[in-house]
Amino acid sequence: MTRHVVWDRGVSLPGHRLWLDPLVVRSFAFISHAHTDHARRHREALLTPQTLALIDESRRPRGWRMLGYDEPMRRDRATVTLLSAGHMLGSAQLLLEHDGTSLLYTGDIKLRVPGTRKQTHVPKAHVLIVETTYGRPHFRFGDPDATIEAIAMWCRRALDSRVAPVLLCHALGKTEEMMLALAPYGFEFALEKRCVPCAQAYAGAGRPLPEWIELDGDARGRVVIAPPAGKDEVRRLGRYRTALVSGWAKDAEFARLFGADTTFDLSDHCDFDELMDVVERSGADQVYTVHGYTEDFARSLRKRGIRASALEATEQLQLAL
Ligand SMILES: [Zn+2]
Repeated sequence: MTRHVVWDRGVSLPGHRLWLDPLVVRSFAFISHAHTDHARRHREALLTPQTLALIDESRRPRGWRMLGYDEPMRRDRATVTLLSAGHMLGSAQLLLEHDGTSLLYTGDIKLRVPGTRKQTHVPKAHVLIVETTYGRPHFRFGDPDATIEAIAMWCRRALDSRVAPVLLCHALGKTEEMMLALAPYGFEFALEKRCVPCAQAYAGAGRPLPEWIELDGDARGRVVIAPPAGKDEVRRLGRYRTALVSGWAKDAEFARLFGADTTFDLSDHCDFDELMDVVERSGADQVYTVHGYTEDFARSLRKRGIRASALEATEQLQLAL
């Protein structure tokens, strides 16, 4: 029954009465991390303490079961373990084991964690459900540490010529990880207002950040960080230069949409090769893909002889028959 996986407005394991990142409110659901597309007001949510701390009041589940990394929990006759996913503070993969069969759900995952030289551990599992945000082969990112070095140089050059460097980053997770990665270079930061509650939450969840102020029209020699969409506040800066920091940097069409002066391909998701690595390390004999280029990545896996399908499409097909 552990192999029974369906798409029901989120990943559903009917045999275990468990939903994984469902899009609607459920009685018992795993929330892999605090990004808005995953958090709902479930009756009871399974999550890490950091994820709970990062979910804002309006989207917080009504009840919860907090679980730290690598602490096995019994649920009915199955064992559930959460493992770090390397995507953002608190992000977790879920490993479910029952009756000799194991299933791994990655949630949003990143293998190469910048500044650590360590890679996220992917456990062995018979069934793998993997996110495929960047599941096309043209998404191949450079070494994260080298990219951070390049971003730091770009910021320094701008500051030296009295131009405000503006990094366009997702407000929750990416902004804070960017600040931490740039901390060794001694920068100070000015955050656009939408990044402010996220930075406060990060510090509140136990990860202190380098010195920052809220952006108020003057960057004062600081590195500015703002979300990619809606740059009104940034336009008031006068002399500034923008850089999109995202895996979408590898997609010329998409990068142009953001209208940034330059791009850096630093992502908190796996690129195509890392996704292949995740599949290989899991050793799974059945792979389901969710999010992003699900069909493309499933096809790439099938070409390599791996049984794979896009989960949502599988379900649509079943409904159509
Ligand atoms: Zn995410």
